[in-house]
Parts: sequence; structure tokens; C-alpha cells
Amino acid sequence: MSLRLDGAGLRIGARHLVRDVTVEVAPGRVTALVGPNGAGKSTVLRLLAGLWRPTRGHAALDGTALSRLSRRALAQRISFVPQETGIDVPFTVRELVAMGRHPHLGRFDAPGPADAELVASALARADVAHLADRFVNELSGGERRRAVIARSLATGSRVLLLDEPTANLDIDHVLETLTLLRTLADAGATVALALHDLNVVARWADEVAVLQDGHLRAAGSPAQVLDDALVASVFGVRVERLAAGDGRSTLVFHRGERRSTRDG
Ligand code: ADP
Ligand code: MG
Repeated sequence: MSLRLDGAGLRIGARHLVRDVTVEVAPGRVTALVGPNGAGKSTVLRLLAGLWRPTRGHAALDGTALSRLSRRALAQRISFVPQETGIDVPFTVRELVAMGRHPHLGRFDAPGPADAELVASALARADVAHLADRFVNELSGGERRRAVIARSLATGSRVLLLDEPTANLDIDHVLETLTLLRTLADAGATVALALHDLNVVARWADEVAVLQDGHLRAAGSPAQVLDDALVASVFGVRVERLAAGDGRSTLVFHRGERRSTRDG
């Protein structure tokens, strides 16, 4: 399934969170959203997820306006992993992940064996099976994030949107999460995520969209888009490229002049 924003803008009161953003998130691809804090990455993900409606322009899934899909239809097709996964209610991880099946159950249906199987598989793939009976509010930030990713997998939706999914994960779980998302995309899923690590984006994402001050600065393949001048201009840093063993380069950043005025 292909998700698209066309000239999308979101204004709250007098404030423009994002303006005139056109992006296509395609099946089988991993699309990274990058940009400084406050650039609009989370807003773009929420517009793509249909959680917020653009006040200008359009958001569509396979050509159908998201506004024409019911909440349930959206929840079956698109899953969203928010940046903040603070969950205060005392659910167990298994209960949380089982909630991923709700959009597929009728109002009076109990989950069946097929649902239980999907939940078990999601727990295993996000590496939280050993935490299944723990309370979500008693987990570390990284464990909780993986539990929320497991819920997202349990929905079986073909579109996954994740807001900084690797934040506060240890290195092994960062690699595991990236590998899992790559596997899902290779199997045809549509994956878009906000990320801060430009080296990860350069090596691992298929597409990158660069946001700055609520505007789309550039989009395309990481090799085309992430040149030193653009990175310097968007992030206000100086870029140095070190030759890496695999014939590619690793970006190293040095403090430069800050050009972006927003924070957040
Ligand atoms: P990012 O995820 O790139 O850090 P966001 O999309 O969260 O950026 O925010 C974009 C801009 O919109 C920021 O200036 C932020 O302060 C503002 N913003 C975010 N959420 C809201 C909101 N609910 N109401 C008003 N402004 C918001
Ligand atoms: Mg954000």
C-alpha cells in the first residue's frame, strides 16, 4: 500500500506545524524522515497515519483520501508507533500486544487461536516474549518501546509508521529493530520512520525526506540527498567523511553555525 501527502499543511491557530509537504511512502521501501528537533517529522508521520488531518492539501492511501476511511479501517491498514510510549495503565505486555488485534475483531468477538498466534509471533519478533507477563509500566523505556512495536506487528497492517523507534534502545536492539523493519519492507510492507542517525539513514534507508522548519527541503535516495552542503545547511554542522572498511564513508559531524531557529 502506498501512502501519500500532497501539498499537505497543518496549521493550529496561527502556527504552521508543517507546510506544503509532498511525500510518497511506497511499499517495499524504507523511508526515513530526518530533520532537526521541531522540523515537523512527528507531524508528518501523524498526517500519514491519518491521526491528524491536514488543514491544506491531501493525505491518501492507495489513492483513497484518509479522511474517507473509518478509524477502524485506518487501524487495520496503518499502524503507528509514537515517539513517547508512556503507558501508565497496568497492562501486561501480552495484553498490550493483543490490543493490536482489536481493529480486526467484531464488537462481540473474542480473540481466536489465529489472533493468539499472531500475538505470539509479534512478541517473538520484537524480542519481548520473555516479558509477556510483565506489566508495561514496569519496563524500561527501551523494553516498552519494543512492546509497542510488537503491538504494531500484531495488527498485521501493511503500513508501519514509527517515530524514532530506535531512541533509547541498546545497540543490539537498535540493530535488531532495523533488521526487523528491513525484513518487513522486503516482504512488501510500507515502512516510514523518523530517525536522527544520518549514518544509519545513509546505509539503511531506501528513501529519505529532509524536513526543516516545517518544510520539505529535499527527498530522494540518501546518496543523492544527504550531501555535505545540505546536511550543513539543515543541521548547522560541518560534515567530515571518513573512509569505512566497506568502501563507503562514515559521516562525522562537527559543530558549526546553527541556522535553524526552532527548537523542540
Ligand atoms: P519533530 O518531530 O521534527 O521534532 P514536530 O512535528 O513534533 O517536530 O513539531 C513541529 C513543530 O510543531 C514544532 O515547532 C512544534 O513545537 C510544533 N508542535 C508540535 N505539536 C504541536 C501541537 N500539538 N500544537 C502546536 N504546535 C505543535
Ligand atoms: Mg518528533
